Amino acid sequence: MIDDDRPHEECGVFGAWNVTDAAAITALGLHALQHRGQEATGIVTHDGVRFHSHKGLGLVGDNFGDAKVMAGLPGTRAIGHNRYATTGETVLRNVQPLFAEFEFGGLAVGHNGNLTNAHTLRRALTKRGCLFQSTMDTEVFVHLIAISLYANVIDRLIDALKQVVGAYSLVSLTNDKLIGVRDPLGVRPLILGQVHGADGTPGYVLASETCALEIVGAQFMRDIEPGEIVVIDTTGVQSIKPFGHLKPRFCVFEYIYFARPDSVMEGTSVYTARKLIGAELAREAPTDADVVVPVPDSGVPAAMGYADQSGVPFELGIIRNHYVGRTFIEPTDQIRHLGVRLKHSANPAVLAGKRVILVDDSIVRGTTSQKIVEMVRAAGAREVHMRISSPPTTHSCFYGIDTPERGKLLAARNDVAQMAKLIGADSLAFISINGLYRALGKTERNDAAPAYCDACFTGDYPISLVDHAEPREAQLSLLAELT
Ligand code: AMP
Repeated sequence: MIDDDRPHEECGVFGAWNVTDAAAITALGLHALQHRGQEATGIVTHDGVRFHSHKGLGLVGDNFGDAKVMAGLPGTRAIGHNRYATTGETVLRNVQPLFAEFEFGGLAVGHNGNLTNAHTLRRALTKRGCLFQSTMDTEVFVHLIAISLYANVIDRLIDALKQVVGAYSLVSLTNDKLIGVRDPLGVRPLILGQVHGADGTPGYVLASETCALEIVGAQFMRDIEPGEIVVIDTTGVQSIKPFGHLKPRFCVFEYIYFARPDSVMEGTSVYTARKLIGAELAREAPTDADVVVPVPDSGVPAAMGYADQSGVPFELGIIRNHYVGRTFIEPTDQIRHLGVRLKHSANPAVLAGKRVILVDDSIVRGTTSQKIVEMVRAAGAREVHMRISSPPTTHSCFYGIDTPERGKLLAARNDVAQMAKLIGADSLAFISINGLYRALGKTERNDAAPAYCDACFTGDYPISLVDHAEPREAQLSLLAELT
């Protein structure tokens, strides 16, 4: 549930070009990306003549498991979207992909991420007479494309992209093109794959993560580059780089928590990265104990790495019930607390009488850690040592990861000793920021030019927070420019 006026657009996107039954392929891809968004889902297809669309609340399987729905989505081209966002109410008008008709034809668009100048642009566009139908950042793209004076769709898209500030991956479908875009710093992920084409020439897919490839029988080709636009049409794949080269800042939290472990991002396996982070954490924060226990699922690979490195046996001391959604989706603090108990149970066979090292990927509000420590003690653990495979989350994300406002982040208000007390652990340690970089194969964090976006741990925001931090004059001058 949103805690302030910031949109949190954690999402998954998928696109298919020249594949038999593009809607089914897109539904499968979205199913593999379900962890990136469970609130709502949508697919738009094009059958060579016209567009077709279906959007619904809930999971991919609940919406696209229906033969009648799938029969209404013909064509060999499609884009799809999974929505996690907790902005405002989840009503159908806030479900992507968005679709609009222009003089050049139709355009469907789905995006993952956040624009940091969305409010400013929205105000300017509204003043110009644009009527917004949703509260999504995606609609800002659509209006900017609509008012652009360029003739063709790619030039209009570039014109729109040059006005937005933010972290985003975008998939778009026009009458004759599939388009993929990654933000200039490449904060959010997007990859390109190849499939057997419907007409004998190659078919292509775009996806947030590589875990969506295998399920659709696609081969990984490459990551879309930061700031790159790929345009796929009957002539093949064209790459456009309108922004010039900037030093990439991929989101380090994708490795820590968000991506699926079987995905490979920027050449690094997420699973391997998590194990290496766990091993580094064991080197940095060892302690005598009898068992290493992950907080499932997200803490599992890091706990394996911690156990391997420390020699302390890995055991499943907490069992996760897979029939409950992510705790974060629940709206109130009270239900969030209950959610943790619904989701996790202690396994006394492993915990009774033991000194336990609990490994989780992050502490945000502290709700999960507090409940898990309490549960592990109630199951008879003698000592509970919490180890976290990320540095303390001290700052909110404005680039597409759902974090609450800063005041609600446990680490923004407390030091490690205070946090240990609050969650009830005998000891608490986080991996250091340099340890995190070392685990990811870098020497350590180069403060002058860091390799990743790690703003949630450092407060070093690489993309201007226009709506939130820029002097009012800057916002006003942008408003004046657009009006
Ligand atoms: P909290 O209970 O607020 O401290 O949240 C920490 C728990 O939420 C950890 O177990 C994480 O695995 C999980 N988590 C961290 N970040 C996110 C996120 N952006 N969305 C959903 N879950 C998250």
